[in-house]
Amino acid sequence: MTIQQLPPLLIDQIAAGEVVERPASVVKELVENAIDAGASRIELILHGGGLESIEVRDDGLGIPAEELELAVTSHATSKIVGVDDLQAIASLGFRGEALASIAAVSRLTLTSRPRGGEGASLSVEFGKLGPVKAAPAPEGTRIEVRDLFRNLPARLKFMKRESTERAHCLAWVERLAISHTGIGFRARAGDRVLLDVAPQDGIRDRVAAVLGQGLSDGMHHIEADLERLRLDAWIGPPDSARRDARQVHTYLNGRWVRDPRLMRAAREGVREFVPHGFYPSLVLQLTLDPVLVDVNVHPQKTEVRFRDDRFVVGSIIRTLAGGLAQSAWATGAERVFAGAASDRVAERAPAARKTAPSGDWSPQQRTDSPSLLAESAPLGLSEQAKPLDEGEILRVANTYLVREVPGGMELIDQHALHERVNLEELRREAAAGQVTVQPLLVPELLELSREDIALLAEEAPRLTGFGVDLEPFGETTLSVRGVPARLDRLRAADLIEELLELLRRPGSAAPEDLGDALLQRMSCRGAVMAGDHLSTEMLQDLLKRGAELPQDRTCAHGRPVRVFLSLEDLERAFYRR
Ligand code: ADP
Ligand code: MG
Repeated sequence: MTIQQLPPLLIDQIAAGEVVERPASVVKELVENAIDAGASRIELILHGGGLESIEVRDDGLGIPAEELELAVTSHATSKIVGVDDLQAIASLGFRGEALASIAAVSRLTLTSRPRGGEGASLSVEFGKLGPVKAAPAPEGTRIEVRDLFRNLPARLKFMKRESTERAHCLAWVERLAISHTGIGFRARAGDRVLLDVAPQDGIRDRVAAVLGQGLSDGMHHIEADLERLRLDAWIGPPDSARRDARQVHTYLNGRWVRDPRLMRAAREGVREFVPHGFYPSLVLQLTLDPVLVDVNVHPQKTEVRFRDDRFVVGSIIRTLAGGLAQSAWATGAERVFAGAASDRVAERAPAARKTAPSGDWSPQQRTDSPSLLAESAPLGLSEQAKPLDEGEILRVANTYLVREVPGGMELIDQHALHERVNLEELRREAAAGQVTVQPLLVPELLELSREDIALLAEEAPRLTGFGVDLEPFGETTLSVRGVPARLDRLRAADLIEELLELLRRPGSAAPEDLGDALLQRMSCRGAVMAGDHLSTEMLQDLLKRGAELPQDRTCAHGRPVRVFLSLEDLERAFYRR
């Protein structure tokens, strides 16, 4: 076969494969264009999940009649002119190929009137341009996309049910609406209004419209202004965590992104308040000098590249973890894990609680159907639980401890409590400069690979500050000479396993963060396990140390340490009320 230049229409159709995956991609591109055009109100109207038609109207600055053809031509854009502009992109679009790609795979009608100008319109049928005609229109732009992929039967086959495609379309409007305060967004499917936020609605109103009022009200706001980076985070209560990432919204300079490193950093930062394997409800906005980030690495621009990965990742982790340590959930001003136990079993969002203190979180209204479990006795962590006395403690399955506390009773997970006690005590020592080392009578020798030995040898000097004393002992042997004194149950092999795992993590966080992550892991490995039988003395000691903690509501993995059942809860359970 000879090499031939492809015709322009085919080029656009191929490009469409990258940019236009499904109706939601069209919605994203059109709404982004409206935002870039300075609109203050944007409306989306869908039919047939977007496969029949997608219409986006805005009151932005419009397109002059003589530029309509250019707008639907590939590699034509008003947003950048030269390669220098690529280094600091402030608009959402810049590639100049969205409209051309969409027009290549649909029937597209573009109608626009620039401010103070005349209206005109242009239709394109699967890449074939019609004439530009004068058309009366309000100021702004209206784009209608019909019969998407009708010329690409192969692609059409991949489309899901109407309701699924509609949900994907809505998700994009929601993502953009959350971060673009100052712009009103309305989305309809036929006559049904799916989303409606006014220009003046603040971020909490927007989060409420998207994730539910209860969740929005309960969100904790954290902000940090570092020199080159500004962070704003709104985090939902621990019991709003989910098994999927649908309630995680990360933004970089207003652009919604789903970047694996950002996601990892966000999860690391909230790990003490979100159970292992769950994702938080989180809106995270990063604002940084556009020069420090490259958004031109992904056709849909949802992944990005930072000049200084470690700085960004480390800042996110520190800001979130630090901010959460000050939150009402950590300090105990608020009940954590309301109804956690029953919710986790049912794997759904939080159940309704009838006795709602202010700032409480109620069920996620939009996506959740009422649940049978919502009526079950609400559980909560101890609010002011301090033991009455050295009362009796009951062990259940050598895992849970039960005791009476003022106002009711408390169930404790012995492993979670021990882990939390270890962690807080180690942190206190580390903050004071040094974790006490317990030298081992007989150093433990471990066989490891050369690489691992090298990795550990490099870190060894720093690790003594965390109570870990290591020394290479031959090329493939490591000698563990000391471990943190408090962790008498920590096995050397477990410690090294955790350490290596942390050190090997790709793009691992800034060096300062290793410390706390290490303390967390050692605390867990050095804690009594579920099933371990504890002597009465040990129990008393553990509970006493627990009572002195600044934070004892959740373990280092975000699971609850204590569950409180109030007398009211008990009365309700026995129908005394
Ligand atoms: P890009 O957004 O990357 O520039 P597009 O293909 O999405 O490329 O749009 C091409 C051009 O059409 C934009 O640069 C802009 O000038 C114009 N345009 C598109 N949509 C609108 C709109 N809603 N309002 C005003 N101008 C628009
Ligand atoms: Mg665009």
